Amino acid sequence: MKIQMLDLSEQYLSMKDEVIAKLDEVMSSSQFILGSNVKQLESDVAKYSNVAHGIGVGNGSDAIHIALQAAGVETGDEVITTAFTFFATGGAIARAGATPVYVDIDPVTFNINPSKIEEAITEKTKAIISVHLYGQMADMEAIKSIADKHNLVVIEDAAQAIGAKQKGKSVGELGTAATYSFFPTKNLGAYGDGGMIVTDDSDLAEKASVIRVHGSKPKYYHHVLGYNSRLDELQAAILNVKFPHLDKWSNSRRERAAYYTEKLNEKLGDVIQTPVEKEGNHHVFHQYTLRVPDRDELQNYLKVQGVATMVYYPMPLHVQPVFKELGYKEGDLPETEKAAEEAISLPMYPELKRKDQDFVIEKIVEFYSN
Ligand SMILES: *Cc1c(COP(=O)(O)O)cnc(C)c1O
Repeated sequence: MKIQMLDLSEQYLSMKDEVIAKLDEVMSSSQFILGSNVKQLESDVAKYSNVAHGIGVGNGSDAIHIALQAAGVETGDEVITTAFTFFATGGAIARAGATPVYVDIDPVTFNINPSKIEEAITEKTKAIISVHLYGQMADMEAIKSIADKHNLVVIEDAAQAIGAKQKGKSVGELGTAATYSFFPTKNLGAYGDGGMIVTDDSDLAEKASVIRVHGSKPKYYHHVLGYNSRLDELQAAILNVKFPHLDKWSNSRRERAAYYTEKLNEKLGDVIQTPVEKEGNHHVFHQYTLRVPDRDELQNYLKVQGVATMVYYPMPLHVQPVFKELGYKEGDLPETEKAAEEAISLPMYPELKRKDQDFVIEKIVEFYSN
């Protein structure tokens, strides 16, 4: 493959000495779990999200699970969300003992369609999870107003959207809590697993920080069932080195996205659909995702030409075998299912070269002119 989806090596080389020095500091201190690096990152990321609290956890999936539990979601509750997301969103709901209720997406943004939420609310509904897919926030004002009217919790799954904004508001500001993932390929990636919950709700923050240490408070006394799910000091130290560069990296992604969009629209504007940044949104382009005809053929063609692409996601959650007991069938969420057939993500990362983008564009144009 000539052009990868993502290449993390250049970024590492640009900060290698600093990273190694920080790792050495942690290892020399022998403080590996919940030490000063985690505290610093929690404080920085909370401030960045314009909220009071950050709680570092083991990964982005646990962040959702723990946020739900800390917000009071329990067995028998229903949680409304989108089926067009990574498995972790639905998995976390089920792991919290609740039932995922999937509603259709807005075909323009690929995010949950707020106008489909109210008809899915029942007496059992406790929460809504909005997923900010590909780096663009779901319509939080609409979601928040429905949630307020029905007294529901809102968790923002912002695994793909750290740094995204809507009408000047950050991820985490409108929801009850937001969750981040520091999986290596995310916009702020560790060199292993990591995640964080951010919230303005002191009670939720306190509960989440207890749940991540086995529900232990005071130490060795357990009033709630928790887990072992912590961000470790080595990962936090790496993230502390990377965090100050995040906005610069997001801007690089935005520039690359704008270039793809300009060139692809010039040549294929009536064949494919480039990503739409809705008015008022600041999209951080975790993925640059097109809608295209003959998607699988295009993907194969590009692969042969040396261009990596990915399909996020080929099978929506409502039809995943593990959720078959929920009773959904194909056809239940038409926009979601259509997106799963048409979406394709192109190589995207802050260091992506212009000449590589030109090659990707050329090969896509070539495919559709044959
Ligand atoms: C990556 C991702 C997660 C899970 O994060 P992990 O850190 O891999 O557990 C959850 N939701 C979405 C939308 C993601 O992209």
